[in-house]
Amino acid sequence: MSALILDGTRIAQEIRSEVAAELKEMAAAGLRPGLAVVLVGHNPASEIYVRGKVKACEEVGVYSEKLTPPESSTTEELLDLVEELNRRDEIDGILVQLPLPSQVDSKKVLLAVNPAKDVDGFHPMNVGFLSTQRPGLVPCTPGGVMEILRRSNIPVAGREAVVVGRSDIVGKPAAMLLTNANATVTICHSKTHDLPGVCRRADILVAAIGRAGMVTRDYVKPGATVIDVGMNSVTDPAESQRFFAGNAKREETFRKKGSTLIGDVHPEVAEIAGALTPVPGGVGPLTIAMLMFNTVKAAKMRRRTREFAKV
Ligand code: NAP
Repeated sequence: MSALILDGTRIAQEIRSEVAAELKEMAAAGLRPGLAVVLVGHNPASEIYVRGKVKACEEVGVYSEKLTPPESSTTEELLDLVEELNRRDEIDGILVQLPLPSQVDSKKVLLAVNPAKDVDGFHPMNVGFLSTQRPGLVPCTPGGVMEILRRSNIPVAGREAVVVGRSDIVGKPAAMLLTNANATVTICHSKTHDLPGVCRRADILVAAIGRAGMVTRDYVKPGATVIDVGMNSVTDPAESQRFFAGNAKREETFRKKGSTLIGDVHPEVAEIAGALTPVPGGVGPLTIAMLMFNTVKAAKMRRRTREFAKV
């Protein structure tokens, strides 16, 4: 058996087209949602992510602004910046790219973002809305996982879901979204006993660990849907060979770039899973698509309701 490959690139494109169509309608009514991206200092990975986000804004028609305070910024300076963005009406979404420099209190800065503009969905108020099934802004990556399941017609209600990883950014909100969609959910982490055994119960297995190829076939019930959130760069030729020996395309990528991307799921899982998200081209593209979706949602919600304004 060979797993159905869930094409995240196609699904992300579908969402981006829908968002672009909605933005056209909004533009006709004189409204252009705006996203402010705060990139502090010069973290090379963050610079790449931010470039992708700004480019996506241009493509779908969101107004974007990139703010680049210096590496030496203090918590107070960033709080002032966030406050200013909170006040500006043409800014509907505020994204503070993580990680922030070590001298900055990241939690304090994220807490300062107006929850109505919190397009990352990290503010405790949005976390609370999610856990109490109220409308709010949902974190982009787990939101994207749910879109993959929904748009691939994979049933969730009544099924066993196992999420490996309990981060605030991916694991916990993914588990909450699956619970809200009526799955029976187990959350696993580094202290879980018999992890492969627990994972084998899953009809839907979500891996958000950050360990290259850790989820092998022993973790997977035959026919299960496996969602691989992990993004790990392999730079060791021996490790690359261990995962991709005989895969001409991967060997070529590694030869050219000196690295290749792998998820948390071992390639051998494709032989046993019913459906599987690839890396790259699975969950990754959904994250930016959902950021665009959230920016439009924030623009609509902020105009429609004063709920958030009470915070
Ligand atoms: P994280 O904050 O480091 O959390 C990792 C989680 O995995 C933790 O809960 C940890 O358990 C658990 N874990 C680590 N080693 C384990 C092991 N040996 N057995 C069982 N559980 C283990 O990472 P994250 O931010 O959630 O990200 C997870 C992965 O998703 C990373 O590869 C990241 O790059 C990727 N990611 C991708 C996207 C995307 O757009 N596709 C977006 C965000 C993240 P403890 O809590 O016990 O430490």
